[in-house]
Amino acid sequence: MKVLFLDIDGVLNSKRSAVAFNKFPWDVKPEDIPLFDLVAVALIRKVCKETHAKIVLSSTWRHTVGWERVGQALDLPIIDATPTKINGKRGHEIEMWLERQCTRHPELQTTGITYAIVDDDSDMLEAQRPFFVQTDGENGLTLANYDALVKILGKI
Ligand SMILES: [Mg+2]
Repeated sequence: MKVLFLDIDGVLNSKRSAVAFNKFPWDVKPEDIPLFDLVAVALIRKVCKETHAKIVLSSTWRHTVGWERVGQALDLPIIDATPTKINGKRGHEIEMWLERQCTRHPELQTTGITYAIVDDDSDMLEAQRPFFVQTDGENGLTLANYDALVKILGKI
């Protein structure tokens, strides 16, 4: 199983896209879609196609908009969202999701979960560093970030 933990702000939108389009997207209604960095969205879609990874939403958008709506509106294979840990780092929430997944599906402990994390913030755990790709919130997801994610998740 391959999982991509996806942040939205600073990844699928950026200061760059907000300057270009005059504002940040806050929702996924039809009028919000052009406010995303659609090249970044397409690159994430391509990471999933090339590596067969599914997405777990780690962004606060999981609370404000919901992972189902985000996945549907942006045509991304989002299957779940990370749990919330009050005052916890995002890395802890990702760790919780991975642990729960292994409890629910014991067979995963032997086959393992291959994962990557993409986020503009760096509050990940030390053990997650090798699987973490940090974007620059000014510019959002770049081609180099895309390459790094495909490398971590591995092509099929
Ligand atoms: Mg962010």
